[in-house]
Amino acid sequence: MSCLFCRIISGEIPASKVYEDDRVVAFNDINPQAPMHVLVVPRAHIATVNDLAEGHDALVGAMLRRAAAIARERGYDGSGYRTVFNCNAQAGQSVFHLHLHVLGGRAMAWPPG
Ligand code: 5GP
Ligand code: ZN
Repeated sequence: MSCLFCRIISGEIPASKVYEDDRVVAFNDINPQAPMHVLVVPRAHIATVNDLAEGHDALVGAMLRRAAAIARERGYDGSGYRTVFNCNAQAGQSVFHLHLHVLGGRAMAWPPG
């Protein structure tokens, strides 16, 4: 299995996991860009947002709702946080297993760089 996040999901590569269930796993980013920087990933290997199909709608909803729950647990629901899916090269995607960045704990600029 060559995909880095599949290996993290299986436990073959260690990560600081903060949540897991039958559909999604969440773990701390190894190179955090904010006080909270969690990645929410599906257990299923889906490379990019471009590869989402209608059958994934509930899964994507579960990922986004998990992001909100993690932010709420940490007290960032009111102050604000950011959720990001990078897709392909120009957006800066470097790991080709779908992941939702959940960033919080500092003020963020817009537009993103
Ligand atoms: P992307 O650039 O694809 O949107 O985001 C990939 C993210 O995965 C980056 O923020 C990067 O820091 C994180 N990352 C890369 N390798 C590892 C790893 O081995 N463990 C963890 N926890 N995060 C990783
Ligand atoms: Zn994968």
